[in-house]
Amino acid sequence: MANKYVPTKILLEESELPKAWYNMNAVMPEKHDPALNPATLKPCTVDELKGPFCDELAAQEMNMTDEYIPIPDEIKDFYKMVRPSPLIRAHFLEKVLDTPAEIYYKFEGNNTSGSHKLNSAIAQAYYAKKQGLTSLTTETGAGQWGTALSMACAFLGLDLTVYMVKVSAQQKPFRKSVMETYGAKVIPSPSYTTEVGKRILAANPTTGGSLGCAVSEALETAMKTPNCKYVLGSVLDHVILHQSIIGLETKTALEKYGIEPDLLISCIGGGSNFGGFIAPFIKDKINGTAKYDILAVEPPSCPSLTRGKYAYDFGDTGKMTPLLKMYTLGNGFTPSANHAGGLRYHGMNPIVSKLYHDGYISVNSVEQTKVFDAAVMFAKSEGILPAPESSHTIRAVVDQALKCKETGEKKKIVFCLTGTGYFDLKAYEQYNNKTMTDYIPTDEDLAKGFATIPDIPQNK
Ligand SMILES: *Cc1c(COP(=O)(O)O)cnc(C)c1O
Repeated sequence: MANKYVPTKILLEESELPKAWYNMNAVMPEKHDPALNPATLKPCTVDELKGPFCDELAAQEMNMTDEYIPIPDEIKDFYKMVRPSPLIRAHFLEKVLDTPAEIYYKFEGNNTSGSHKLNSAIAQAYYAKKQGLTSLTTETGAGQWGTALSMACAFLGLDLTVYMVKVSAQQKPFRKSVMETYGAKVIPSPSYTTEVGKRILAANPTTGGSLGCAVSEALETAMKTPNCKYVLGSVLDHVILHQSIIGLETKTALEKYGIEPDLLISCIGGGSNFGGFIAPFIKDKINGTAKYDILAVEPPSCPSLTRGKYAYDFGDTGKMTPLLKMYTLGNGFTPSANHAGGLRYHGMNPIVSKLYHDGYISVNSVEQTKVFDAAVMFAKSEGILPAPESSHTIRAVVDQALKCKETGEKKKIVFCLTGTGYFDLKAYEQYNNKTMTDYIPTDEDLAKGFATIPDIPQNK
């Protein structure tokens, strides 16, 4: 294998596409603590999860035993339109950095939604359709998830209502237009269309909203609409399951060319791309046979892992979801409005939380002005204009590659480039105008969020 020619853009054949998703829950040495019903504080049953969620997704959420879960043919056929995604050797970035490191990125932005979110959107819409549902609700922050789900619902003929965090709707009006083009109804959140929205607006009329609050509105609407369920674009285990397609393809491509990674890196918002990217690699890490390190990257303005508490918390501000054991800043945490770059969620997926808690992965946080320095460097060298979220990863990769320059290490760094930044030009404008600032919450700021973590015996 050693001298095999490795193309800059490694593409798999259609026949090499994964036939099953990878379920990390099946191989965790210790399972994460179960989701709790907030009313009884007992572990949720599959039937309870079927209240707000689609049947098959509820079953996947609770599947702790099957390492591989077959991908239905209809989803595989859809994947073939946008997958396999390329694994690209970043020769030009390496040259700019003058680093001995080898840098590879898995590019997930090559579809209209501009991100990896489509991998789970099509799966979730498929199971909803199969169950005979006619509509879905969801929330969106930066807008990538809403767009991805709009595409999936349009493809399968489902109605969709998207609650979009109000500040994002104002900052990214064209995101709304894309979703509407695909037939979705887009409502800036908080809104007067739900009881929880009215409550939040009464308490804070000028709020720009938060993901947690949009989740509550979407959930409430799903509960009161016949034949309608709520779907979520991150945070839950079944979303990570669908996103494992990223890691499975990456692993196949690396193995095909005998490339042994030293470091896997990706950004974390709710944990879905990161979890999916590392999924098929985690077993070796758990067994102690991996030679690679795994690094997650988050913004210091929303520091769920680096400064959060490991506790049971709600996934939403309206306290309607099951309680999840996760690293959290508190369901009432709202990130600073100056934060331009996504990754604004208060909590973190329970598997990713558990892996971090048990020491299998490490986490860095990088400030947004430095993130955009790296984004621009990447755009100029590799051509792709990266999403702000993905640019957190690029920052961490650049820092690692510069470290290799000092030490002379020829590390092989593989990262997930989750998406493109065409709808984030406001943020790029701020960066170019030098009006972008960094904000790191004080301990006092964080204490306000922590105070909203439920005071239950499990958290003592
Ligand atoms: C949503 C999103 C993220 C962060 O969400 P995760 O669920 O943590 O993956 C990162 N990058 C892009 C481009 C996104 O759209």
